[in-house]
Amino acid sequence: MTLNGHSLIACQPVAGNGKTAHGYNPATNELLEPGYSLLTEGQLATATSAAAAAYPSFSTLDPETHAGFLEAIAENIEAIGEELITRAGLETGLPTARLQGERARTAGQLRLFAAVVRQGDFRGVRVDPALPDRAPLPRADIRQRQIPLGPVAVFGASNFPLAFSTAGGDTASALAAGCPVVFKAHNAHPGTGELVGQAIVKAVKNFGLHPGVFSLIYGPGSSIGQALVADPAIKAVGFTGSQSAGIALMRTAAARPEPIPVYAEMSSLNPVFVFPGALTGNAEEIDVLASQYVAAVTGSSGQLCTSPGLLFAPTGAAGDKFAAAVGRAVAACAGQTMLTAGIAGSRNSGAEALGSADNVSVLGLGAEGATENAPPPAIFGTSVAEFVSNPVLHAEVFGAASLVIRYSDTNELIDAASRLEGQLTASLQLAPADYPLAAPLVPVLEQKVGRIIVNGWPTGVEVGHAMVHGGPFPATSDTRTTSVGTLAINRFLRPVAYQNLPQELLPAPLRDGNPWRLNRRVDGVVEAAAAEEAATEKAEVNA
Ligand code: NAP
Repeated sequence: MTLNGHSLIACQPVAGNGKTAHGYNPATNELLEPGYSLLTEGQLATATSAAAAAYPSFSTLDPETHAGFLEAIAENIEAIGEELITRAGLETGLPTARLQGERARTAGQLRLFAAVVRQGDFRGVRVDPALPDRAPLPRADIRQRQIPLGPVAVFGASNFPLAFSTAGGDTASALAAGCPVVFKAHNAHPGTGELVGQAIVKAVKNFGLHPGVFSLIYGPGSSIGQALVADPAIKAVGFTGSQSAGIALMRTAAARPEPIPVYAEMSSLNPVFVFPGALTGNAEEIDVLASQYVAAVTGSSGQLCTSPGLLFAPTGAAGDKFAAAVGRAVAACAGQTMLTAGIAGSRNSGAEALGSADNVSVLGLGAEGATENAPPPAIFGTSVAEFVSNPVLHAEVFGAASLVIRYSDTNELIDAASRLEGQLTASLQLAPADYPLAAPLVPVLEQKVGRIIVNGWPTGVEVGHAMVHGGPFPATSDTRTTSVGTLAINRFLRPVAYQNLPQELLPAPLRDGNPWRLNRRVDGVVEAAAAEEAATEKAEVNA
């Protein structure tokens, strides 16, 4: 595919009237061609007004066309082939195997949302039939369904150039809900973004959809990104990135004449709680546990939102052995190229702040990586008393760095957990003998996190129906939802009730006869579409 270096506004390449920016290779610090022409704020309205114009037809698309469109995006992304992996590798420094896995996840989640669209439960159909003879007052016929909010602005993540970027989780869930998407390209992988953008454009064209269903815009976040969120045509925002940018977008969205929801995923320390029973094995078993922890900290150079930044381990001989094993495991690692020089720089200042804090020791330090932006992985150690009294130790370090905190009893552990900010995850490493100790911690963690994990590590988020990738602030801006998994579609929907509408004016999903074959809640009772169909057929046979 040819990279044009332009935005794709309503599926057409449009040269920006602003400056030109290049992607660059973080392994060599070399600029990559082509240059990307950045949009000016005056050019933005073409994208947002096209998205608004696309809404009426896209939001009412029949389920089969809608699902086919999502599947076509997945196919088109796969069809780009090695060019996509090569470009993403050049722009991010991420290894090929990781990017291949991410491409599979990207295509997989688009197909999962296609299945959700065909199945239809997200439409939330409820019917309260009229009760004309009810005393003292009759009841009207009231029907409810979920409708798409409108055009959605999406800001992709630097650390998932495929699965959380142009056609990633937020775009997939917004398109599945029936919302046109205006995607603010991430400046750290502009070429990858354009390749994926072209795959979406091809699907829009092949399905004969309104071109405003998708736009990909290049420009600085602080101007174009802000203007996008302030634009009256935009009705919701999906974001993954830093706390500062997420909060800036929340402020802009809240200050609009018509405030809109912002679903921002920002920062998380993903604490791990190691109970005594997890450390009763022999030295080899303790080494395995330590190596698993270090692998979770250093994987993807620590640039995962679920990377464990804190681990609580007991004081005493077994905890000492574990801490020593962690030190050895991290010393055997070398730095990997980080996504950008800026992200590597922030990681270095964060690690330096941890390392120079009072009563914090270095448990283990890896080797510098082969490139300039590949800092050595580092794991530090401290006590619960120090942790609870020093806010510096609660700051996210995005990169391969983590802090082991030693606790003397479960009360200390619960106290420390109750002082944590909101997190995406909490993980418990334990044996059955620890269950009574862990039981009082679980309700504390429920108040703090979106996902609780036992005898596993938080990295590697499954994309499914039951997954929650969310949590209280500052993990996310809205604790009621998730950005990974099928429940993410709910972020871009709202309920509408239809009272006494004649069949001719009702939307198809709500009409008598259930033409879209949806499961429905009728007078409070769930009626499965299949059972309803069977009953209708039986009635017809008996008639
Ligand atoms: P970022 O700086 O927050 O940027 C994310 C997106 O937001 C980019 O498209 C950026 O555009 C835009 N943006 C930045 N400032 C903005 C503003 N004031 N108003 C509107 N839009 C704005 O995140 P990043 O570049 O991906 O990584 C930087 C840091 O974010 C990392 O060091 C890490 O701490 C954190 N991070 C966290 C996660 C997570 O999952 N929790 C994931 C990735 C990164 P421009 O670049 O054009 O300004």
